[in-house]
Order: sequence, then structure tokens, then C-alpha cells
Amino acid sequence: MASDRKVADDVVIVGAGIIGVCCALSLQELGHKVHIIDKNQPGEATSYGNAGVISPWSCVPQCMPGIWKQVPKWLLDPLGPVRLQWRNFLPAIPWSLQFFANSRLSKLKSISDAMDVLMKDNVNAYKNHLDGTGQENLLRDSWYVNVFRGRSRPDIKDLTWQLRIDHDAPIEFVNAQQLRQIEPAISDEYHSAVILKDQARAFAPGKLCKVLAGKAFRQGAKFSQIELKALQSDSKGSYTLMTSAENIKARQIVLCGGIWSKQLLKPLGVKLPLMAERGYHLEFFNPGVELQHSVQDNEAKIVVSSMETGIRSAGTSELAAVNSPPNYSRAEILKPLTKRLLPGLNTNETQQWMGIRPSFPDNLPVIDRIPGHKGLFGAFGHSHYGLGMAPKTGQLLADMVSGQSTQEIMNPYRIDRFH
Ligand SMILES: Cc1cc2nc3c(=O)[nH]c(=O)nc-3n(C[C@H](O)[C@H](O)[C@H](O)COP(=O)(O)OP(=O)(O)OC[C@H]3O[C@@H](n4cnc5c(N)ncnc54)[C@H](O)[C@@H]3O)c2cc1C
Repeated sequence: MASDRKVADDVVIVGAGIIGVCCALSLQELGHKVHIIDKNQPGEATSYGNAGVISPWSCVPQCMPGIWKQVPKWLLDPLGPVRLQWRNFLPAIPWSLQFFANSRLSKLKSISDAMDVLMKDNVNAYKNHLDGTGQENLLRDSWYVNVFRGRSRPDIKDLTWQLRIDHDAPIEFVNAQQLRQIEPAISDEYHSAVILKDQARAFAPGKLCKVLAGKAFRQGAKFSQIELKALQSDSKGSYTLMTSAENIKARQIVLCGGIWSKQLLKPLGVKLPLMAERGYHLEFFNPGVELQHSVQDNEAKIVVSSMETGIRSAGTSELAAVNSPPNYSRAEILKPLTKRLLPGLNTNETQQWMGIRPSFPDNLPVIDRIPGHKGLFGAFGHSHYGLGMAPKTGQLLADMVSGQSTQEIMNPYRIDRFH
């Protein structure tokens, strides 16, 4: 809701993914007038096809200690969760080295705590954002059901659970019988699960983004479907956004362009280790089975849940060049893996999708001023966690634009942390 504070200068937000839209809502709450631009309609890029998990307990980075031991095995397995596009091999090396450096145990606590700050209370924040839209049921209260099969067993001493316990996650270990009661559609092959309670899932992530954008528009935000081609600043501290249509003048710009933020900042001399970490989903229409929760196959690293249009199975990580064509065989591997999880699944009608996670090597985003460019801010790089981190990112960014942020909280998300 807009406050009665004096209306500030217009802020132009580049990017109407979930990050840009949540930034818009929070800026409006602080009395700013916003103008959002996007080359597409809201919520049609990465924010469209994610797995819909909104967990306050996602404080476990991908760069976990010991991950280097698993990667070779994953790369060799045709159904494995990780792929490296060979023509992206050389550019991926420096990023991968930084990623592995961040997977040292000594780094874990600070990364996990910084993730926790962005995740905490995300379910309530979405409920507040959705309030009054008439689409409140796009958010479903649910659990995260992490299921195990074969010889792998959940272990409470495992760091992935310990980190969550340390951050107050309500966590429960269940056996096969209890799992059957929670999700009857899951195969008998799965013998146990770790349940994270008190979280939510988006019933249609792209629609959620559009509905929230609609709320921002009703509250006065302007939207232009245009592409930002270049940014020019003048000596008086204002910017010209050179776009595919009219040029736009602005004193304050928030860059929420996901993976494309890197190429937009490069001409300004800002170089960033932002990697295109592509993910895929396969949507099963008329699935014939239903899930109540977000279900993660702990071995296959896929997340499956019932959505508005069917069952969505999402996952895989593919380090690839930003503009290279999708490799839909990565979506097709989700079919046998999902059928193994849900034997009753109808796999006859499916749709493939590819999206690009904008990933920094420490799995944390940038939420910061762009150095040397007064009035230019960035909120991008949310990797695997952007849906969950979006509301808090919006709040922190809006505080920063309004000159109200506390540097100590913002330190982990600084843009200069890579130098
Ligand atoms: C398979 C998969 C599953 C995932 N599952 C989850 C999950 O369950 N939970 C979770 O929290 N996260 C998940 N994620 C991550 C999450 O989807 C992303 O972190 C998030 O969507 C990033 O949002 P964004 O707004 O930064 O980017 P985007 O949604 O990509 O938005 C960026 C926008 O900027 C626009 N843009 C870019 N350049 C320009 C330009 N020059 N001019 C104008 N507009 C421009 C684009 O058109 C786009 O709309 C998943 C990701 C994938 C791929």
C-alpha cells in the first residue's frame, strides 16, 4: 500500500521478472512512482517456469562442502543433474573455480546466513503482496517433501538438514508408511523422506508474477514493453535509457534483468562472474495423479509439484552460453525420472521449457548500488532461489533507493565482493 510520504523521483525498473515486480511493489510502498520496462510481458522469462518452491528454509547453497566430489559422477550420468556445454567449457572454468572456493566449510555459515535473511518470512510477504488481488490461491501452504530411494538414507547429521535446523526450520524425518499417507502418488521405491513444514508453493509461478505486476500497475506503475539497448549517463546525474522504442530519461534505475544484467552492465565497465545456469521443466498435462506438496527427489535433484496446468517436474543445471539454443534432451530426461517417482503419471501430453538461472559463484545475488554510477542500482543473480528471495530483495532494494538501508545487512550482496 502506498504510504503518505512525499512521492519521490520516478524510478525505472528494467526487468519484470519476479525480482523486478517485487522491487516495484516495495518501492511503491515507500511512495516511489515506478516505471517498469521489459522486452517481454511480465513473468515470461526465468520466473515463468521455476519449480514454485517458496521456502523460508532455503538457506542451503549449491556450493556445499564436498560438492566437488559429486560433480564428476553427475557429469558422467546421462540422467545426472549437472551438464556443462562443451563450447562454454573455457568461460566456465574461472566461475567454477570461484564456485568451488565458495564451497569451503569456512564460507558456509556466512553464505547460509545471508540466504536466510532473504528467505525468512517470504510466505507472509507473498501473502501481503497478493492480498486484494483476488488471486490469493496462487500461493498454496505446503511442505517440502524430500524423498529417498535405494541405498541412500536421510541422515540428521547431514549438513543440508543441520543448516536448516540451525535456522529454526520445522523438520521431520518420516518412514515409508508415513510418506504414503502424505503423498499417496509416490512410488513404493521411496522408503523415507525429510519434511520441511510451514512453507508454500506457487500454483503457477508465471501467473503469480503477472498478478503482482497487475497490482503494481493498478497502484500507478507504468509499463512499457520495450528492450533496453544501452544506458547513457550525463554529467548532471541523469540517465538516458536507449530502448527499442522511445528513449527514457531517469535519475534512478533499478536493474533487475536476471541473467541479461551482465551484458547490460558490461559497457559501463562492470564485469561480473554471472553464469547462465540453465534449468528445464517438463509439464505433464492431464497427469492423472496429484501432489499436495513440493516433492524433491533427493538423488535425481528434481522438484515435482501439482500446478494449475498439470504436474511440473523441474531441475537440472546446465552451464551454457546465454544465447545458445535450448538442449531439450535435458527436459526429456525429466520424464523417466518423474515416472519413477510417480508411477501413475500420464506422460502422453508434455511440454518442455528452458529458463536461465542468473548464478554468481557464491549463490548470493547482488543487491547494491552500481559503483561510480549514482542512481543506478542492481538486484539480480538470484540463481536457484529467486522466487523465494524476491519479496525481501524488493524490500531491501527499496530501502536502499530511499536511503534507509543498513550497510551491515547489505554487505553479503555487495557488487564489489568478487574483486
Ligand atoms: C528449472 C528452474 C527451477 C527453479 N525453481 C525455483 C524454485 O522452486 N524456487 C525459487 O525460489 N527459485 C527457483 N528458480 C530460480 C528462479 O526462477 C530465478 O531465480 C528467478 O526467476 C529470477 O528472477 P529474475 O526476475 O531475476 O529473472 P527473470 O525472470 O529472468 O526476469 C528478468 C527480466 O528482465 C527482462 N530483460 C532482460 N534484459 C532486458 C532488456 N535489455 N530490456 C528489457 N527487459 C529485459 C527479461 O525479459 C525478463 O523478463 C528456478 C529456476 C529454474 C530455471
